[in-house]
Amino acid sequence: MAQPSRPALIVHGGAGNWTNFDEAAVLNGVRAAALAGWEILRAGGSAIEAVEEAAILLEDDPLFDAGYGSFVNLEGEVEMDALITDGRGIRFGAVAAVRRVRHAITLARLVMTRTENCFFAGDGADQLAAELGLSLIPNIDLVTEKEFALFRQREADRLPRAGLGTGTIGAAAVDSAGHVASATSTGGTPDKRKGRVGDSPIFGAGGYADDAHGAASATGRGEQIMRFFLCKEAVDAVRGISAAQAAQAAMQSFAARVPSPEAGLILAGADGSLGAVHTTPAMPTAWVTADGQVGAVMQVPPDFGI
Ligand code: ASP
Repeated sequence: MAQPSRPALIVHGGAGNWTNFDEAAVLNGVRAAALAGWEILRAGGSAIEAVEEAAILLEDDPLFDAGYGSFVNLEGEVEMDALITDGRGIRFGAVAAVRRVRHAITLARLVMTRTENCFFAGDGADQLAAELGLSLIPNIDLVTEKEFALFRQREADRLPRAGLGTGTIGAAAVDSAGHVASATSTGGTPDKRKGRVGDSPIFGAGGYADDAHGAASATGRGEQIMRFFLCKEAVDAVRGISAAQAAQAAMQSFAARVPSPEAGLILAGADGSLGAVHTTPAMPTAWVTADGQVGAVMQVPPDFGI
């Protein structure tokens, strides 16, 4: 395998079962997002700009549980969580339970860059979005026809949908200057209770970045990941080992401590190495290396590493 070099970027489309999906469309979605982020890096843009752009594409793609296409909660509404992390100075911006923005990741970035604070939730976060110039949209504009039909069916059957969300999205990148960043965005788990927030917007759990080591984004059962600070564990492990080895090590210690682990993780090392790992049956993942090589898989092989 070639020596890692910068810039490089990796994205995920959510750890889960991914049964009954058009696999080609899912892979196209993650590949397109990785390439969009990569174009920014190639043109000399920053890791932050690249991960935001990749996340925006995935938020717009209805196949993924983020932005348009998010799962609705038990009341039939979309509530989104997002986190952007910047390895320069270990900074982040986060939002939780936002309902009226098209791109929660952009709001997370504005929280980081345009406010004195780090984390906004609920109505206050939507209000801030408007103050910072984002358009507010009706919540229903985030709901796909398919998701609406599933909600109506659940109402009729009174049966909860089983299983984990399939399409939280994330990106991690290192730019040519060696700065790292990650983005994570989600509509949460299917049929969640109103107000429920998972790991995704929690710094250290759903995402983390430190220029000394790397940047990560996690996906899976939020109630497990947030107890373990999975992304901080993974990023801190990139000391003298590659991102792939660090991702594996973090996931192994997570799985050793958390019963029935359901999680996935992508990691970009500050050296340009890339890693990805998941305990679930699938996690669509795409990446672009410094020489422009693009890859995309539904299942990350155990020996994955660049
Ligand atoms: N981690 C997300 C949450 O718990 C869900 C997912 O990644 O699919 O909200």
